[in-house]
Amino acid sequence: MHPFAYRRAQDADAASALAGAAGSDVIAGGTDLLQLMKDDVRRPNRLIDITGLPWTRIESGPAGLRLGALARMSDVADASAVRDNYPVISEALLASASPQVRNMATIGGNLMQRTRCVYFRDVATACNKRAPGSGCSALDGENRLHAVLGGSADCVATHASDLAVALVALDAMVLLRGASGERRVPLDAFHLLPGDTPERETVLQPGELIVAVEVPAAPHARRSHYLKIRDRASFEFALASAAVALEVEGGVIRQSRIALGGVATKPWRARAAEALLAGRPPVPATFVAAADEALAGARPLQQNGFKIELAKRTVVRALHTAAQGA
Ligand SMILES: Cc1cc2nc3c(=O)[nH]c(=O)nc-3n(C[C@H](O)[C@H](O)[C@H](O)COP(=O)(O)OP(=O)(O)OC[C@H]3O[C@@H](n4cnc5c(N)ncnc54)[C@H](O)[C@@H]3O)c2cc1C
Repeated sequence: MHPFAYRRAQDADAASALAGAAGSDVIAGGTDLLQLMKDDVRRPNRLIDITGLPWTRIESGPAGLRLGALARMSDVADASAVRDNYPVISEALLASASPQVRNMATIGGNLMQRTRCVYFRDVATACNKRAPGSGCSALDGENRLHAVLGGSADCVATHASDLAVALVALDAMVLLRGASGERRVPLDAFHLLPGDTPERETVLQPGELIVAVEVPAAPHARRSHYLKIRDRASFEFALASAAVALEVEGGVIRQSRIALGGVATKPWRARAAEALLAGRPPVPATFVAAADEALAGARPLQQNGFKIELAKRTVVRALHTAAQGA
């Protein structure tokens, strides 16, 4: 491992200043960053430990839910306010990693985790995200696990976070703090498509940190569900996942939310599919039409064409589950 210095940030201003310096990486739970350092993918000169900052609270009120960036995944998954009013968040977290990882890992770190693309994590191979301009080994390589939505000629790596898919579905906002103060960004706009700059993954500026995630209260949030399909039943990333939320009134769908994971280069909101559900009864034919719309723009690579049908079925089943008892 590349040698590095260690600093524990005493307050938010110090954390931003230290994090903004060239060669610095912020560390929270360390469950992703330390592995990347051991594999030589990240070689920071200095680690800025932010775990002493007061960003651990989980707060719920009439306006919505606020998750501190340093709240642990396990604590958020177990919080009754989350389980009762935003089940899709709790379900996405419980489908992530393992209990041990969730006990260490934080909400901010989860949103900032790097892709699991094997080429990104193997420094012996070409990867535009890790080494801009070196090429994308996945385009003609092992691409069974890669993206069918949002890819480019430079990168087809999927975004790995389950939580981000649930939060994008619920219109979450990310509260950021940097040298010039605080700003709020819709989570849907926080992660970037790869385009020809796949090394730029988010809108975070140097020195900016995630302080919290805010989720607005909404009737559909209570009737929400996360379904994750993977190669084995636990401790595995998604082949395809769907975060859905429904508000059903008088036998028809008033509001809906659909987001996809495992199949796209960023947490993927399917707005056209949501529009198609509006005013229709929550029946299988409606769900199939929405799923077709959600995957309409999908472009398979050589080995991952199966993901398109898999993702459609995932959306249909998730909507069916969310609609139960409506
Ligand atoms: C074996 C294994 C299996 C996993 N399976 C899944 C899974 O199925 N689904 C899933 O979603 N995830 C999975 N993960 C990923 C896991 O959820 C992440 O590693 C974890 O959430 C990262 O959080 P952390 O606090 O440990 O972040 P760290 O490792 O400390 O940091 C990760 C990144 O986030 C940055 N960062 C951290 N906090 C902030 C902040 N507040 N502001 C700005 N930047 C910040 C760091 O600089 C770093 O770049 C798995 C991980 C492992 C090791």
